[in-house]
Amino acid sequence: MTNLEPLIKKIIAGIGDDPDREGLIETPKRVAKSFEKLYGGYKKDPKKAVTVFDNEGYDEMIIARDIDFYSMCEHHMLPFFGKVYVGYLPDDKIIGLSKIPRMVEIFARRLQNQERLTKQIADTLMELLKPNGVGVVIKATHLCMKARGVEKQNCEITTSSFTGPFRSNLNTRSEFLDLIK
Ligand code: ZN
Repeated sequence: MTNLEPLIKKIIAGIGDDPDREGLIETPKRVAKSFEKLYGGYKKDPKKAVTVFDNEGYDEMIIARDIDFYSMCEHHMLPFFGKVYVGYLPDDKIIGLSKIPRMVEIFARRLQNQERLTKQIADTLMELLKPNGVGVVIKATHLCMKARGVEKQNCEITTSSFTGPFRSNLNTRSEFLDLIK
């Protein structure tokens, strides 16, 4: 993202520092490079990053928990990060479990809000697997809340997206929430 370097230099000047002083001279290059990672999810299609298998009769809940993610909030371009918990009740298709973190990674490496990230993961699993239901929970800390000195410094935000019995059946939902505690 070398086209960003002059813009980052302008931001440094704009905040009142000297972009030509020694400590900052390489900074635009480093920031542009870090953006390739932080915003690397735009060029990737999460649906192509996953492999789907035929289910051989497994009909209990499948859970992937404690999936670490790092994303950037679209309102402030500051990091928010935490853990994703995914559960689903399979029908004819199952997903390689290592592929769920890969899908999370692609959606997270964009300008995001936590609600959309949660829903995109649930929607994509619904589309790819057509399972009986999906539950996605994200627990995250937002630096835009902590670093800007907003009240409730240690507040953790939880979002969820439920479909099928995860939404309509209290037992299914409780089982999932118990298993991700
Ligand atoms: Zn924010």
